[in-house]
Amino acid sequence: MTVFLVGAGPGDADLLTVRAARLLARADVVVHDRLIEPSVLALVASNAERIDVGKEPGNSVSQSMINELLVSLGRRHANVVRLKGGDPFVFGRGGEEMIALREAGVDCEVVPGITSAFSGPLAAGIPVTHRRLARGVTVVTGHCADDDDGYFRRLANPDLSLIVLMGVGHRARIARQLVEGGLDRDTAVAVIESAWTERQRVTRGVLHELGALDVASPAIIVVGPCAALDVAALLADAASAY
Ligand code: SAH
Repeated sequence: MTVFLVGAGPGDADLLTVRAARLLARADVVVHDRLIEPSVLALVASNAERIDVGKEPGNSVSQSMINELLVSLGRRHANVVRLKGGDPFVFGRGGEEMIALREAGVDCEVVPGITSAFSGPLAAGIPVTHRRLARGVTVVTGHCADDDDGYFRRLANPDLSLIVLMGVGHRARIARQLVEGGLDRDTAVAVIESAWTERQRVTRGVLHELGALDVASPAIIVVGPCAALDVAALLADAASAY
């Protein structure tokens, strides 16, 4: 009787861990989010029950209801998989679910996944750290842009790549606060929509244009000099020169 909190990776089923694929194949029940790709769900045992708790505006299952559901399923079934996009502990509320299960006395194990925070930029040929361009990375939720204290002003740092999840709806405010915080308004930005899916789209620009870019969720926003790189294209160009 175990609930496995499993990271599904960013999209493509080939980016699951071997452990995740094995658990999906032998699950009794799979409780999943909205962003899980059909190719990943295709790996679920055909006789397993699937429960979509996807959080869509106006049709949301609250986190406490999800926790209760996991506890009751965990008490009734041998193998319950709670499947989450990317990594379960990166903005996935996996920590809260694990605490709720443990408090209820239900065994719970967590299986890491490839987070979209890093694999999204990579899909666009953007290394999030690069010698002389970025010494490190800040990963943050765009929801902080709503805070009255102008949170993003404090994140303005030209030495770091800034990676924003759930930031599309807040992109104008994010850009404004970063410029107010001292970041050059011509700092490179990239937005990677639906990375590692057939719908993947990459849009590049500079910081002061971010609010005007025509982009939609789910997407990763990268701010910083690395956002201008496309290593894959550089390699392709170099290869075609010979
Ligand atoms: N646990 C997930 C993040 C959950 S928060 C992870 O580790 O990736 C949901 C946000 O993640 C989305 O709003 C979007 O910003 C980002 N995201 C998840 N999958 C994505 C994908 N395939 N392409 C682009 N962004 C993605």
